[in-house]
Amino acid sequence: MSIDYLRISVTDRCNLRCIYCNPLGDCGCIEPREILRFEEIERIARLFAECGINKFRLTGGEPLVRKDIFRLVDKLARIPNIDDLALTTNGVLLEPLAAKLKAAGLRRINISVDSVERENYKKITGFDLLPKVTEGIHKAIEAGLTPVKINSVIIKGLNDSEEQILALAAMSVHLPVTVRFIEYCPTGKYTNPASDYLPNRNVRFIIERKYGPLFSVVMEHSPGPALNFKFRDSAGAVGFINGRSSIFCRSCNRLRLTSDGKLMPCLYSAHTYDLKRLIRNRASDRQMRDLLKRIISEKSNYTKLNSLKEKFSMCKVGG
Ligand code: SAM
Repeated sequence: MSIDYLRISVTDRCNLRCIYCNPLGDCGCIEPREILRFEEIERIARLFAECGINKFRLTGGEPLVRKDIFRLVDKLARIPNIDDLALTTNGVLLEPLAAKLKAAGLRRINISVDSVERENYKKITGFDLLPKVTEGIHKAIEAGLTPVKINSVIIKGLNDSEEQILALAAMSVHLPVTVRFIEYCPTGKYTNPASDYLPNRNVRFIIERKYGPLFSVVMEHSPGPALNFKFRDSAGAVGFINGRSSIFCRSCNRLRLTSDGKLMPCLYSAHTYDLKRLIRNRASDRQMRDLLKRIISEKSNYTKLNSLKEKFSMCKVGG
């Protein structure tokens, strides 16, 4: 598997309190001076690009709470030989920023929406902000941040009713978006227990009962773990990310950089490399490149199966 994708968390702060991710709001604890500056992120990304990583995604916390995020997008978009530059957001701050992000060089966007029912959205996220997010989705489509993908984590008792799942899927009937159902991954003692996980085969069953068989489609910009499908005549598509019911370590092409500069070869591994310490201690480009090449070549040693780590914060790592 060629390793060509880096997810960059630009902040550990988030403006929502999703009960399965950041229920206590205890993200946002990293001291500001420990957070990578834009110039540091740009340098790390450029060095990675020189080692063959050509796809970048900005995430968080919530990346749009980071002041002047479009300045970072502009810097990354100028790195030679970049194939993809994307961002994952909860969409709350997207409406006024979508066109600016596009102009800065962002190519596409994923927006997390776990319910399209206003009261339920508020229950899950802690805030009555669904209308803002909906405006953001429309602005992203209008700005050409395509394909727009909607990420929905389905959790028992929260948003697993037939009505809620069908309402999420229905977005892809009328809008040119891909609605991706993500299996819940239990992460810590304050988030939902493992028993609240709902396998995607149940979600698919509910969707097919209503819309008929789904047709498998191969989509551009979707080489990752999602399996994508269309209904007859739908404007968009639905996708399934079966992160819990299947193991895709062998096809994992991604590395993760936390907002305080730790490089994670695997989401589930406790092993990290402190890139911030190296660059703040004036490591040369050559020293950095040598390390990054080694990290890339050793990535396959770190997998979900051999990980000893039991708990982590998705909000701090960025999903
Ligand atoms: N704030 C941004 C957002 O909401 O998209 C980016 C960070 S968020 C941690 C990235 C993604 O991780 C979101 O789609 C979120 O739903 C997903 N996520 C968070 N906790 C999760 C969990 N326990 N299992 C599966 N996905 C999770």
